[in-house]
Amino acid sequence: MQKKYLMTPGPTPVPAEVLLAGARPMIHHRTPDFSQVVRDCVGGLKYVFQTECSDVLIFAASGTGAMESAISNCFCAGDTVLVTQNGKFGQRMQQISKAYGLDVHTLEYGWQQVVSAQDIADFLAEHPDTRGVIVTQSETSSGVLNDVRAAAAIVRDLPDCLLIVDSITGIGAVDCKTDEWGLDVVMTGSQKGLMLPPGLAAISVSPKAWRAYERSTLPKFYFDWKKYKKNLEDDTTPFTPAVSLMISLAESLRMMREEGIENIIARHARLAEAMRKGCEALGLELFAPPEGRGNAVTPVWVPEGIDGKKLISLMKKKHGVTIADGQDDYKGKIFRVGHLGYFGDFDIITTLAALEMALVELGYQFDTGSGIKAAEAVLMRG
Ligand SMILES: *Cc1c(COP(=O)(O)O)cnc(C)c1O
Repeated sequence: MQKKYLMTPGPTPVPAEVLLAGARPMIHHRTPDFSQVVRDCVGGLKYVFQTECSDVLIFAASGTGAMESAISNCFCAGDTVLVTQNGKFGQRMQQISKAYGLDVHTLEYGWQQVVSAQDIADFLAEHPDTRGVIVTQSETSSGVLNDVRAAAAIVRDLPDCLLIVDSITGIGAVDCKTDEWGLDVVMTGSQKGLMLPPGLAAISVSPKAWRAYERSTLPKFYFDWKKYKKNLEDDTTPFTPAVSLMISLAESLRMMREEGIENIIARHARLAEAMRKGCEALGLELFAPPEGRGNAVTPVWVPEGIDGKKLISLMKKKHGVTIADGQDDYKGKIFRVGHLGYFGDFDIITTLAALEMALVELGYQFDTGSGIKAAEAVLMRG
């Protein structure tokens, strides 16, 4: 037997309580029992999204379903939108917007750059007819944290322009104050900070986003927001929901409320710092820039002379620790350690230990134990 550790930024580990909740016998979805599950899920999601003004809708889909719904429910063909892009998921938003025939403008940055709110302001001054600005809060491909609060400060007073936030690895890892900051549409997926298996997506819709919905003429059916909102009035869903996943979600949200959202974010900040300090102590170079590092994932450059693919496969095969490769141009050049959701101090220590052992085995020269020591110093600070 080999004990396994999943250290990826989605799917993420699922607590036993949540798995057991999902293993309960099936119940019918048109029952008072399931309506209670719906109420618990919606109430808990509003808590983690930090919103009272927005509706929160739940789909049986991966996160991309929520992304697509944001486009098809808010816009008309030909509408001008600005997609900010500094990684793979910004690119996906651009692809979806193009697929729906929007007039897509892109602010494109390198994967190691942070989206600039000033660039958004400049674009909007030149294109006052813009109907939406799309920002990825936590860019999972690059580990970059974009300042959605600064973007919201620019967009929130424009009556006909929405701020759409992909917070799929943001929610539950970094602060995301939907109401206070004025975020119109925010989305997440179950296999990230919510500590669930893949299969659910959630999205918040502000009053301003509902006005955009009323104007929108793009085709929509399964992801038609109004259908979900109407059914939520009766604590139910328009189509057969992912019953077991929603029962699990109610349990994970119960655990999240018990810990408290501020404490959850503080825990993630601490674990991320321990991972960063541990990697730096090994002489490794962090990928994301100091001004924009998120708490969900730590991408790290593979050191000179080491085969990145071999490093990742050695950690998995020999040590049972799964981390993620870089994506696109950074495949084999960086590795990414996830610490999003159900993570504690010793997940960080375990991963650093496996990383050290794999690096020794591949001939990298460093002071063995220094990574663990640096991480412990962060964790012992409390
Ligand atoms: C995981 C993720 C998504 C959605 O991906 P799915 O595979 O459809 O769940 C979107 N954006 C970001 C930033 C993500 O991390």
